[in-house]
Amino acid sequence: MNKFKLIIFLACLVIFYVCQSHFDLNQEGAKESQSIAAGHKAGQDSTQQINPTYKELPESQKTETGESKAESELVSPTNEKTVYLTFDDGPTAATTDILNTLNQFNAKATFFMLEPSMTELPEVVDKIVKEGHAVGLHGVTHNQNKFYKSEQSALEEMNAAQQTLQSITGIKSSLIRTPYGSVPYLTESYREVLAGNGFKLWDWNVDSSDWSLSSDEYVGTVIKQIEDLVNAGVAPIILMHDKANTANHLSMLLTYLSEHGFHTKKIEENLQPYNFNCYQRCHRLSTK
Ligand SMILES: [Zn+2]
Repeated sequence: MNKFKLIIFLACLVIFYVCQSHFDLNQEGAKESQSIAAGHKAGQDSTQQINPTYKELPESQKTETGESKAESELVSPTNEKTVYLTFDDGPTAATTDILNTLNQFNAKATFFMLEPSMTELPEVVDKIVKEGHAVGLHGVTHNQNKFYKSEQSALEEMNAAQQTLQSITGIKSSLIRTPYGSVPYLTESYREVLAGNGFKLWDWNVDSSDWSLSSDEYVGTVIKQIEDLVNAGVAPIILMHDKANTANHLSMLLTYLSEHGFHTKKIEENLQPYNFNCYQRCHRLSTK
């Protein structure tokens, strides 16, 4: 019996020894796993040190950082810049050509239109809206002696243009540009009356002079002014007109804008309008 107990005891010793060895091996494996995990963690830490702000940014800004930014820089070498193309005095026979060129470049613009021209070419007004451009008002007469005769005459011209545009398109636009711009004839009392009736006055900061220049000369004039404004950190608002010569060379301007990273935007109703500053230059029309 004692001999039997001794055999059991020895067997237990052998089993214990085998189990112990196996446990030690597992422990080594576990340590190795831990060190690999630690290595990964260290790797993550070093990534965070390269870009320590990445984790703290909200989801919406993550594309602006790190690798994503590097990728977008490869696609677009310059930051996106905004430009507002505006066309006055339409619609005319040239407007369709302007729309086709804008379409080719996937560009958007704003058209400040005259009431009699809208009445004459309602299908073109419709096309402007259908193609996703903004529509604004430029009055009725385009005659400074009539438009600026009184606060009431200016208001009546804009009201008439607004009603005609609405009857054609269903859009009640409050965007206005007064004939020849707001300086010098739009004095404070005119501005109060127009603003009091909900109109939003828009001037420009790039004058193409496309009405006086021949061939493609206006394009160079515009580009020079754009470069000056961009250097000053200001978004260009370009005045052009619905003229055949403007339409004929518009693709040259749009090519420049596209190659220099500009994105065209239409003027929205909720934008803060850009106005010329009157300083001491604004005065009433001298009565004749
Ligand atoms: Zn005009």
